[in-house]
Amino acid sequence: LKNDQLDAWDRENFFHPSTHLAQHARGESPNRIIKTASGCHIEDRDGNRLLDAFAGLYCVNVGYGRAEIADAIAEQARELAYYHSYVGHGTEASITLAKMILDRAPANMSKVYFGLGGSDANETNIKLVWYMNNILGRPEKKKIISRWRGYHGSGLMTGSLTGLELFHKKFDLPLAQVIHTDAPYYFRRDDLSQTEEQFTAQCAASLEALIEREGADTIAAFIGEPVLGTGGIVPPPAGYWAAIQAVLKKHDILLIADEVVTGFGRLGTMFGSDHYGIEADIITIAKGLTSAYAPLSGSIVSDKVWNVLEQGTDENGPIGHGWTYSAHPIGAAAGVANLRLIDDLNLVDNARDTGAYLNAAMRDALSDHPHVGEVRGEGLLCAVEFVKDRDTRAFFDAADKIGPQIAAALLDRDKVIARAMPQGNILGFAPPFCLTRDEADSVVAATARAVNTVLG
Ligand code: PLP
Repeated sequence: LKNDQLDAWDRENFFHPSTHLAQHARGESPNRIIKTASGCHIEDRDGNRLLDAFAGLYCVNVGYGRAEIADAIAEQARELAYYHSYVGHGTEASITLAKMILDRAPANMSKVYFGLGGSDANETNIKLVWYMNNILGRPEKKKIISRWRGYHGSGLMTGSLTGLELFHKKFDLPLAQVIHTDAPYYFRRDDLSQTEEQFTAQCAASLEALIEREGADTIAAFIGEPVLGTGGIVPPPAGYWAAIQAVLKKHDILLIADEVVTGFGRLGTMFGSDHYGIEADIITIAKGLTSAYAPLSGSIVSDKVWNVLEQGTDENGPIGHGWTYSAHPIGAAAGVANLRLIDDLNLVDNARDTGAYLNAAMRDALSDHPHVGEVRGEGLLCAVEFVKDRDTRAFFDAADKIGPQIAAALLDRDKVIARAMPQGNILGFAPPFCLTRDEADSVVAATARAVNTVLG
Protein backbone atom coordinates (compact mmCIF):
# COMPACT_ATOMS: atom_id res chain seq x y z
CA LEU A 1 0.00 0.00 0.00
CA LYS A 2 1.15 3.51 -0.80
CA ASN A 3 1.44 6.10 1.95
CA ASP A 4 -1.24 8.37 0.50
CA GLN A 5 -3.68 5.45 0.40
CA LEU A 6 -2.97 4.67 4.07
CA ASP A 7 -3.30 8.33 4.93
CA ALA A 8 -6.71 8.54 3.22
CA TRP A 9 -7.99 5.34 4.86
CA ASP A 10 -6.76 6.53 8.21
CA ARG A 11 -8.74 9.75 7.97
CA GLU A 12 -11.80 7.95 6.58
CA ASN A 13 -11.99 5.03 8.98
CA PHE A 14 -10.15 5.58 12.22
CA PHE A 15 -10.21 8.09 15.02
CA HIS A 16 -7.28 8.51 17.33
CA PRO A 17 -6.93 9.05 21.09
CA SER A 18 -6.52 12.57 22.47
CA THR A 19 -6.84 14.09 19.02
CA HIS A 20 -8.64 17.11 17.61
CA LEU A 21 -10.95 14.82 15.66
CA ALA A 22 -12.37 17.37 13.22
CA GLN A 23 -8.97 18.78 12.31
CA HIS A 24 -7.58 15.30 11.77
CA ALA A 25 -10.47 14.20 9.57
CA ARG A 26 -10.06 17.38 7.49
CA GLY A 27 -6.40 16.56 6.92
CA GLU A 28 -5.17 19.55 8.92
CA SER A 29 -2.85 17.48 11.11
CA PRO A 30 -0.01 15.51 9.58
CA ASN A 31 -0.07 11.74 9.62
CA ARG A 32 3.09 9.81 10.28
CA ILE A 33 2.96 6.12 9.51
CA ILE A 34 5.52 4.27 11.59
CA LYS A 35 7.16 1.28 10.00
CA THR A 36 9.91 -0.09 12.21
CA ALA A 37 12.08 0.74 15.20
CA SER A 38 15.28 -0.23 16.95
CA GLY A 39 16.91 0.92 20.20
CA CYS A 40 15.87 4.55 20.76
CA HIS A 41 14.94 5.18 17.11
CA ILE A 42 11.73 4.77 15.13
CA GLU A 43 11.47 4.91 11.35
CA ASP A 44 8.49 6.05 9.31
CA ARG A 45 7.39 5.02 5.82
CA ASP A 46 8.92 8.14 4.34
CA GLY A 47 12.33 6.95 5.47
CA ASN A 48 12.71 9.39 8.38
CA ARG A 49 14.69 8.02 11.31
CA LEU A 50 13.64 9.73 14.54
CA LEU A 51 15.21 9.62 18.00
CA ASP A 52 12.28 8.83 20.28
CA ALA A 53 13.05 10.72 23.46
CA PHE A 54 9.63 9.86 24.89
CA ALA A 55 9.79 6.05 24.48
CA GLY A 56 6.40 6.00 22.74
CA LEU A 57 4.21 7.19 25.61
CA TYR A 58 6.91 6.67 28.25
CA CYS A 59 6.50 2.95 27.90
CA VAL A 60 9.07 1.33 25.58
CA ASN A 61 11.52 1.25 28.46
CA VAL A 62 13.93 -1.41 27.19
CA GLY A 63 14.00 0.19 23.74
CA TYR A 64 12.60 -0.98 20.43
CA GLY A 65 13.38 -4.13 18.47
CA ARG A 66 14.32 -6.47 21.31
CA ALA A 67 14.46 -9.93 19.75
CA GLU A 68 14.29 -11.61 23.18
CA ILE A 69 10.80 -10.21 23.79
CA ALA A 70 9.62 -10.74 20.21
CA ASP A 71 10.75 -14.38 20.40
CA ALA A 72 9.03 -14.93 23.75
CA ILE A 73 5.78 -13.51 22.30
CA ALA A 74 6.03 -15.66 19.16
CA GLU A 75 6.78 -18.79 21.14
CA GLN A 76 3.85 -18.13 23.48
CA ALA A 77 1.50 -17.45 20.56
CA ARG A 78 2.45 -20.72 18.93
CA GLU A 79 2.20 -22.76 22.11
CA LEU A 80 -0.87 -21.13 23.66
CA ALA A 81 -2.12 -17.78 22.38
CA TYR A 82 -4.93 -17.58 24.89
CA TYR A 83 -6.62 -19.21 27.76
CA HIS A 84 -8.47 -17.38 30.51
CA SER A 85 -7.11 -16.98 34.00
CA TYR A 86 -10.35 -17.48 35.89
CA VAL A 87 -10.35 -19.79 38.86
CA GLY A 88 -8.17 -22.83 38.55
CA HIS A 89 -6.42 -21.76 35.35
CA GLY A 90 -3.01 -20.27 34.85
CA THR A 91 -0.14 -20.36 32.41
CA GLU A 92 3.54 -20.75 33.09
CA ALA A 93 4.07 -17.18 31.84
CA SER A 94 1.48 -15.50 34.08
CA ILE A 95 2.43 -17.48 37.18
CA THR A 96 6.13 -16.79 36.61
CA LEU A 97 5.50 -13.11 35.97
CA ALA A 98 3.45 -12.68 39.16
CA LYS A 99 6.36 -14.14 41.12
CA MET A 100 8.88 -11.92 39.35
CA ILE A 101 6.80 -8.83 40.11
CA LEU A 102 6.43 -9.71 43.79
CA ASP A 103 10.17 -10.46 44.01
CA ARG A 104 10.84 -6.89 42.86
CA ALA A 105 8.00 -5.07 44.64
CA PRO A 106 8.26 -3.45 48.10
CA ALA A 107 8.27 -5.99 50.96
CA ASN A 108 4.70 -5.34 52.15
CA MET A 109 3.21 -6.37 48.78
CA SER A 110 1.37 -9.66 48.64
CA LYS A 111 -0.44 -10.52 45.37
CA VAL A 112 -0.91 -9.22 41.86
CA TYR A 113 -4.07 -9.01 39.73
CA PHE A 114 -3.48 -8.57 35.99
CA GLY A 115 -5.29 -6.23 33.60
CA LEU A 116 -4.62 -4.73 30.18
CA GLY A 117 -3.63 -1.10 30.63
CA GLY A 118 -3.13 1.54 33.30
CA SER A 119 -6.71 2.81 33.17
CA ASP A 120 -8.35 -0.53 33.80
CA ALA A 121 -5.81 -1.33 36.55
CA ASN A 122 -6.83 1.83 38.37
CA GLU A 123 -10.52 0.99 37.88
CA THR A 124 -9.72 -2.36 39.52
CA ASN A 125 -7.94 -0.61 42.38
CA ILE A 126 -10.92 1.56 43.22
CA LYS A 127 -13.26 -1.42 43.13
CA LEU A 128 -10.92 -3.35 45.43
CA VAL A 129 -10.84 -0.48 47.91
CA TRP A 130 -14.64 -0.20 47.89
CA TYR A 131 -15.05 -3.96 48.17
CA MET A 132 -12.63 -3.94 51.08
CA ASN A 133 -14.53 -1.24 52.96
CA ASN A 134 -17.83 -3.02 52.38
CA ILE A 135 -16.35 -6.19 53.88
CA LEU A 136 -15.08 -4.16 56.83
CA GLY A 137 -18.62 -2.89 57.40
CA ARG A 138 -17.88 0.73 56.53
CA PRO A 139 -19.63 1.21 53.18
CA GLU A 140 -19.80 4.99 53.63
CA LYS A 141 -15.97 5.21 53.40
CA LYS A 142 -15.95 5.58 49.61
CA LYS A 143 -14.48 8.87 48.39
CA ILE A 144 -11.18 8.89 46.61
CA ILE A 145 -8.74 11.79 46.77
CA SER A 146 -6.50 12.47 43.81
CA ARG A 147 -4.43 15.50 42.88
CA TRP A 148 -4.98 18.25 40.38
CA ARG A 149 -2.58 17.49 37.52
CA GLY A 150 -2.55 13.78 38.41
CA TYR A 151 -3.09 11.35 35.52
CA HIS A 152 -4.68 7.99 36.23
CA GLY A 153 -6.41 7.08 32.97
CA SER A 154 -9.44 8.08 30.97
CA GLY A 155 -12.27 5.71 31.95
CA LEU A 156 -15.24 7.04 33.91
CA MET A 157 -13.66 6.58 37.33
CA THR A 158 -10.07 7.00 36.20
CA GLY A 159 -10.92 10.02 34.04
CA SER A 160 -12.46 11.46 37.21
CA LEU A 161 -9.29 10.75 39.19
CA THR A 162 -7.24 12.41 36.49
CA GLY A 163 -6.91 16.02 37.57
CA LEU A 164 -6.79 17.61 34.13
CA GLU A 165 -9.79 19.58 32.89
CA LEU A 166 -9.55 18.21 29.35
CA PHE A 167 -10.48 14.76 30.67
CA HIS A 168 -13.57 16.08 32.49
CA LYS A 169 -14.91 18.64 30.06
CA LYS A 170 -18.16 17.57 28.33
CA PHE A 171 -18.08 14.14 29.99
CA ASP A 172 -19.96 15.09 33.20
CA LEU A 173 -16.86 14.18 35.19
CA PRO A 174 -15.54 13.96 37.83
CA LEU A 175 -17.90 11.43 39.41
CA ALA A 176 -19.26 12.46 42.79
CA GLN A 177 -17.00 10.11 44.76
CA VAL A 178 -13.82 11.81 43.57
CA ILE A 179 -12.29 14.86 45.21
CA HIS A 180 -9.09 16.64 44.25
CA THR A 181 -6.34 18.16 46.32
CA ASP A 182 -3.37 20.39 45.47
CA ALA A 183 -0.64 19.33 43.08
CA PRO A 184 2.82 19.31 44.68
CA TYR A 185 4.02 21.78 42.09
CA TYR A 186 6.69 23.82 43.83
CA PHE A 187 7.58 25.89 40.77
CA ARG A 188 3.98 27.14 40.54
CA ARG A 189 3.55 27.92 44.28
CA ASP A 190 1.57 31.08 45.04
CA ASP A 191 4.09 32.36 47.55
CA LEU A 192 7.52 32.44 45.93
CA SER A 193 9.21 33.08 49.27
CA GLN A 194 8.26 29.57 50.49
CA THR A 195 11.00 26.93 50.87
CA GLU A 196 10.32 23.42 49.56
CA GLU A 197 9.74 22.28 53.14
CA GLN A 198 7.22 25.04 53.78
CA PHE A 199 5.43 24.24 50.53
CA THR A 200 5.34 20.54 51.44
CA ALA A 201 3.85 21.44 54.82
CA GLN A 202 1.22 23.52 53.01
CA CYS A 203 0.30 20.59 50.70
CA ALA A 204 -0.05 18.29 53.71
CA ALA A 205 -2.11 20.86 55.63
CA SER A 206 -4.36 21.43 52.66
CA LEU A 207 -4.90 17.66 52.30
CA GLU A 208 -5.72 17.39 55.99
CA ALA A 209 -8.15 20.30 55.79
CA LEU A 210 -9.92 18.59 52.86
CA ILE A 211 -10.14 15.33 54.82
CA GLU A 212 -11.57 17.13 57.83
CA ARG A 213 -14.07 19.03 55.70
CA GLU A 214 -15.31 15.90 53.94
CA GLY A 215 -14.99 13.61 57.00
CA ALA A 216 -12.33 10.90 57.20
CA ASP A 217 -15.05 8.28 57.60
CA THR A 218 -16.24 9.09 54.05
CA ILE A 219 -12.81 8.76 52.40
CA ALA A 220 -11.39 5.42 51.28
CA ALA A 221 -8.13 6.20 49.52
CA PHE A 222 -5.66 8.70 48.10
CA ILE A 223 -4.12 8.02 44.71
CA GLY A 224 -0.95 9.64 43.40
CA GLU A 225 1.94 9.15 41.01
CA PRO A 226 5.37 9.27 42.71
CA VAL A 227 6.28 11.94 40.13
CA LEU A 228 3.40 13.74 38.40
CA GLY A 229 3.71 12.62 34.77
CA THR A 230 1.20 13.81 32.21
CA GLY A 231 0.44 16.75 34.51
CA GLY A 232 3.83 18.22 33.58
CA ILE A 233 6.60 15.87 34.82
CA VAL A 234 6.80 17.36 38.30
CA PRO A 235 8.95 15.65 40.95
CA PRO A 236 7.61 16.30 44.45
CA PRO A 237 9.19 18.85 46.78
CA ALA A 238 11.45 17.68 49.61
CA GLY A 239 9.68 15.55 52.22
CA TYR A 240 6.38 15.46 50.31
CA TRP A 241 5.64 11.75 50.45
CA ALA A 242 6.55 11.42 54.13
CA ALA A 243 4.25 14.33 55.00
CA ILE A 244 1.34 13.02 52.90
CA GLN A 245 1.67 9.50 54.28
CA ALA A 246 1.59 10.80 57.85
CA VAL A 247 -1.75 12.54 57.16
CA LEU A 248 -3.22 9.45 55.44
CA LYS A 249 -2.16 7.14 58.27
CA LYS A 250 -3.60 9.45 60.89
CA HIS A 251 -6.99 9.37 59.13
CA ASP A 252 -6.95 5.69 58.15
CA ILE A 253 -6.97 6.37 54.41
CA LEU A 254 -5.36 3.89 52.01
CA LEU A 255 -2.62 4.94 49.62
CA ILE A 256 -2.59 3.84 45.98
CA ALA A 257 0.75 4.54 44.29
CA ASP A 258 0.16 4.84 40.56
CA GLU A 259 3.46 3.55 39.21
CA VAL A 260 2.32 3.12 35.61
CA VAL A 261 5.17 5.42 34.51
CA THR A 262 7.63 4.97 37.38
CA GLY A 263 7.35 1.19 37.87
CA PHE A 264 10.26 -1.01 36.75
CA GLY A 265 13.04 1.50 36.74
CA ARG A 266 12.27 4.90 35.26
CA LEU A 267 13.43 6.78 38.35
CA GLY A 268 16.58 4.68 38.64
CA THR A 269 15.06 2.40 41.28
CA MET A 270 12.83 -0.59 40.58
CA PHE A 271 9.77 1.33 41.85
CA GLY A 272 9.15 5.01 42.49
CA SER A 273 7.97 3.85 45.93
CA ASP A 274 11.55 2.71 46.67
CA HIS A 275 12.85 6.07 45.53
CA TYR A 276 10.61 8.19 47.75
CA GLY A 277 9.99 5.83 50.70
CA ILE A 278 6.33 5.36 49.77
CA GLU A 279 4.63 2.51 51.60
CA ALA A 280 1.57 1.99 49.45
CA ASP A 281 -1.40 -0.28 50.06
CA ILE A 282 -1.85 -0.86 46.33
CA ILE A 283 0.56 -0.21 43.44
CA THR A 284 -0.60 0.25 39.84
CA ILE A 285 1.71 -1.06 37.12
CA ALA A 286 1.44 -1.10 33.31
CA LYS A 287 3.67 0.44 30.60
CA GLY A 288 7.14 -0.68 31.80
CA LEU A 289 5.83 -4.10 32.85
CA THR A 290 6.11 -5.27 29.24
CA SER A 291 7.86 -2.19 27.82
CA ALA A 292 4.67 -1.99 25.71
CA TYR A 293 5.59 -5.04 23.61
CA ALA A 294 2.09 -6.29 24.52
CA PRO A 295 -0.70 -4.74 26.61
CA LEU A 296 -0.56 -5.78 30.25
CA SER A 297 -1.13 -4.05 33.57
CA GLY A 298 -1.39 -5.04 37.17
CA SER A 299 -2.68 -4.12 40.60
CA ILE A 300 -0.24 -5.19 43.29
CA VAL A 301 -2.00 -5.40 46.64
CA SER A 302 -0.38 -5.35 50.06
CA ASP A 303 -0.79 -7.90 52.85
CA LYS A 304 -3.16 -5.48 54.58
CA VAL A 305 -5.50 -5.32 51.56
CA TRP A 306 -5.17 -8.96 50.65
CA ASN A 307 -6.07 -10.18 54.12
CA VAL A 308 -9.42 -8.38 53.94
CA LEU A 309 -10.18 -9.44 50.35
CA GLU A 310 -9.45 -13.04 51.19
CA GLN A 311 -11.63 -12.96 54.27
CA GLY A 312 -14.42 -11.28 52.27
CA THR A 313 -14.64 -13.95 49.64
CA ASP A 314 -14.73 -16.66 52.30
CA GLU A 315 -17.91 -15.03 53.52
CA ASN A 316 -19.45 -13.79 50.23
CA GLY A 317 -18.25 -16.06 47.45
CA PRO A 318 -16.21 -15.10 44.38
CA ILE A 319 -15.25 -11.51 43.74
CA GLY A 320 -17.36 -10.09 40.91
CA HIS A 321 -14.54 -8.55 38.96
CA GLY A 322 -12.45 -9.74 36.04
CA TRP A 323 -11.61 -9.24 32.38
CA THR A 324 -11.52 -11.79 29.55
CA TYR A 325 -7.92 -10.82 28.93
CA SER A 326 -6.70 -10.70 32.56
CA ALA A 327 -3.21 -12.24 32.63
CA HIS A 328 -3.21 -12.70 28.86
CA PRO A 329 -0.50 -15.29 28.10
CA ILE A 330 1.12 -13.19 25.35
CA GLY A 331 1.32 -10.12 27.57
CA ALA A 332 2.66 -12.27 30.40
CA ALA A 333 5.33 -13.83 28.16
CA ALA A 334 6.36 -10.34 27.07
CA GLY A 335 6.51 -9.26 30.72
CA VAL A 336 8.75 -12.16 31.76
CA ALA A 337 11.19 -11.53 28.88
CA ASN A 338 11.10 -7.77 29.54
CA LEU A 339 11.90 -8.04 33.26
CA ARG A 340 14.73 -10.49 32.50
CA LEU A 341 16.18 -8.05 29.99
CA ILE A 342 16.00 -5.18 32.48
CA ASP A 343 18.03 -7.30 34.93
CA ASP A 344 20.47 -8.74 32.38
CA LEU A 345 21.35 -5.35 30.90
CA ASN A 346 21.30 -3.44 34.22
CA LEU A 347 18.81 -1.05 32.68
CA VAL A 348 17.62 0.36 36.00
CA ASP A 349 21.18 1.50 36.73
CA ASN A 350 21.37 2.96 33.24
CA ALA A 351 18.12 4.85 33.80
CA ARG A 352 19.63 6.32 36.98
CA ASP A 353 23.02 7.23 35.49
CA THR A 354 21.96 8.40 32.04
CA GLY A 355 18.95 10.10 33.58
CA ALA A 356 21.20 12.13 35.90
CA TYR A 357 23.44 12.93 32.92
CA LEU A 358 20.53 14.02 30.72
CA ASN A 359 18.98 16.20 33.42
CA ALA A 360 22.31 17.88 34.24
CA ALA A 361 23.08 18.52 30.57
CA MET A 362 19.59 19.92 29.93
CA ARG A 363 19.97 22.23 32.94
CA ASP A 364 23.39 23.41 31.76
CA ALA A 365 22.13 24.08 28.26
CA LEU A 366 18.83 25.78 29.04
CA SER A 367 18.54 27.07 32.61
CA ASP A 368 19.78 30.56 31.71
CA HIS A 369 17.49 31.05 28.73
CA PRO A 370 15.21 34.04 29.39
CA HIS A 371 12.09 32.01 28.57
CA VAL A 372 12.99 28.87 30.49
CA GLY A 373 11.35 28.94 33.90
CA GLU A 374 12.59 25.58 35.11
CA VAL A 375 14.39 22.45 34.00
CA ARG A 376 13.39 19.59 36.29
CA GLY A 377 13.41 15.83 36.38
CA GLU A 378 14.21 12.62 38.18
CA GLY A 379 15.77 9.49 36.72
CA LEU A 380 14.92 9.30 33.04
CA LEU A 381 12.15 11.88 33.27
CA CYS A 382 12.96 15.44 32.33
CA ALA A 383 10.87 18.54 31.62
CA VAL A 384 11.53 22.07 30.47
CA GLU A 385 8.89 24.61 31.45
CA PHE A 386 8.69 27.79 29.39
CA VAL A 387 7.58 31.15 30.75
CA LYS A 388 6.78 34.46 29.14
CA ASP A 389 8.58 36.25 31.94
CA ARG A 390 11.09 34.67 34.30
CA ASP A 391 10.42 37.04 37.19
CA THR A 392 6.65 36.76 37.26
CA ARG A 393 6.67 33.20 35.88
CA ALA A 394 3.76 34.28 33.68
CA PHE A 395 2.55 31.65 31.24
CA PHE A 396 2.63 32.11 27.53
CA ASP A 397 -0.90 32.38 26.15
CA ALA A 398 -2.34 28.95 25.34
CA ALA A 399 -2.82 30.17 21.76
CA ASP A 400 0.96 30.66 21.45
CA LYS A 401 1.32 26.85 21.63
CA ILE A 402 4.93 27.22 22.71
CA GLY A 403 5.40 23.57 23.70
CA PRO A 404 3.96 22.22 20.41
CA GLN A 405 5.98 24.75 18.39
CA ILE A 406 9.24 23.73 20.05
CA ALA A 407 8.41 20.02 19.73
CA ALA A 408 7.72 20.58 16.02
CA ALA A 409 11.01 22.47 15.54
CA LEU A 410 12.87 19.69 17.34
CA LEU A 411 11.35 17.12 15.04
CA ASP A 412 11.75 19.11 11.83
CA ARG A 413 15.39 19.97 12.08
CA ASP A 414 16.96 17.30 14.29
CA LYS A 415 14.45 14.46 14.10
CA VAL A 416 14.07 14.19 17.87
CA ILE A 417 10.70 13.35 19.43
CA ALA A 418 9.85 15.07 22.72
CA ARG A 419 6.33 15.45 24.07
CA ALA A 420 4.55 18.75 24.24
CA MET A 421 2.77 18.10 27.54
CA PRO A 422 -0.97 18.89 27.53
CA GLN A 423 -0.42 22.12 29.50
CA GLY A 424 1.03 23.74 26.36
CA ASN A 425 4.14 25.27 27.90
CA ILE A 426 6.07 22.20 28.99
CA LEU A 427 8.29 19.95 26.90
CA GLY A 428 8.75 16.44 28.31
CA PHE A 429 11.44 13.79 27.84
CA ALA A 430 11.21 10.14 28.92
CA PRO A 431 13.57 8.16 26.69
CA PRO A 432 14.14 4.41 26.69
CA PHE A 433 16.51 3.18 29.42
CA CYS A 434 19.06 2.12 26.80
CA LEU A 435 19.71 5.79 25.90
CA THR A 436 23.46 6.41 25.59
CA ARG A 437 25.27 9.55 26.70
CA ASP A 438 25.88 10.43 23.04
CA GLU A 439 22.16 10.17 22.37
CA ALA A 440 21.45 12.27 25.46
CA ASP A 441 23.88 14.90 24.12
CA SER A 442 22.05 14.90 20.77
CA VAL A 443 18.69 15.39 22.51
CA VAL A 444 20.00 18.31 24.56
CA ALA A 445 21.77 20.03 21.65
CA ALA A 446 18.69 19.65 19.45
CA THR A 447 16.42 20.99 22.20
CA ALA A 448 18.62 24.05 22.71
CA ARG A 449 18.52 24.72 18.95
CA ALA A 450 14.73 24.32 18.80
CA VAL A 451 14.23 26.63 21.81
CA ASN A 452 16.44 29.28 20.18
CA THR A 453 14.63 28.91 16.87
CA VAL A 454 11.19 29.44 18.41
CA LEU A 455 11.97 31.80 21.30
CA GLY A 456 15.17 33.51 20.16
N1 PLP B 1 -1.59 6.08 35.21
C1 PLP B 1 -0.57 6.82 34.79
C2 PLP B 1 0.36 7.40 35.80
C3 PLP B 1 -0.36 7.05 33.43
O1 PLP B 1 0.65 7.84 33.02
C4 PLP B 1 -1.25 6.46 32.51
C5 PLP B 1 -1.07 6.67 31.06
O2 PLP B 1 -0.29 7.47 30.62
C6 PLP B 1 -2.31 5.70 33.00
C7 PLP B 1 -2.46 5.51 34.35
C8 PLP B 1 -3.31 5.10 32.07
O3 PLP B 1 -2.74 4.05 31.39
P1 PLP B 1 -3.39 3.54 30.01
O4 PLP B 1 -3.23 4.65 29.04
O5 PLP B 1 -2.57 2.32 29.70
O6 PLP B 1 -4.80 3.20 30.28
